[in-house]
Amino acid sequence: MGRYLGSSCKHCRREGMKLMLKGGRCETGKCAVEKHERTMGPGMHGWRRGRSSDYGVRLREKQKVKRYYGLGEKQFMRYFHKAERVKGDTGQVLLELLERRLDNVVYKANFASSRKAARQLISHGHVRVNGRKVDIADFTLKIGDKIDLKDSAKSRELVKTQLSSNPNYVVQGWLQVDPERPAATVVGLPSRDDVQLVVEEHLVVEFCSR
Ligand code: SF4
Repeated sequence: MGRYLGSSCKHCRREGMKLMLKGGRCETGKCAVEKHERTMGPGMHGWRRGRSSDYGVRLREKQKVKRYYGLGEKQFMRYFHKAERVKGDTGQVLLELLERRLDNVVYKANFASSRKAARQLISHGHVRVNGRKVDIADFTLKIGDKIDLKDSAKSRELVKTQLSSNPNYVVQGWLQVDPERPAATVVGLPSRDDVQLVVEEHLVVEFCSR
């Protein structure tokens, strides 16, 4: 998969919404979506984009999900096909699977300021799942899985700095966080309400099933 090296803010401007890809900066007035008109796409011709076709609307919903979770096209489609094989609403199953990715859980436990920062923490070997090092960001967690850190002062310092920079952070109910160790446990499955992205997942399913 080719890794996207351009500006994360471009993605938000293209989708016309805050995808919260840059951690702390997203909450400040420096946010590119705050500074520019929400409907304006990136680049000098962004304002020229007119009404979208049905195809375009569905494409945008799919792109939103893909960019929010930092996935490439192939990776995203793998999740979609996995979701299709599970009984239930495919759109909701898809979002639930994505929420259970290790990088998302590390981010939602407030161990990292963004999913991108969480991926870095994981790929640098700081994160353990059930006592074993896991350096794969798309590792899927299940109920009962416990995340903690490599036994090193640097790992603890990195996460503790993040935790103290955001003391009012509210952890979602499907996770339990012990900020002292620090460690987190998956105590339930994420529900649709736990997905903070505004998206019409049925349009994503329509796009991917066409
Ligand atoms: Fe950039 Fe974050 Fe604002 Fe998106 S939400 S435009 S990533 S600062």
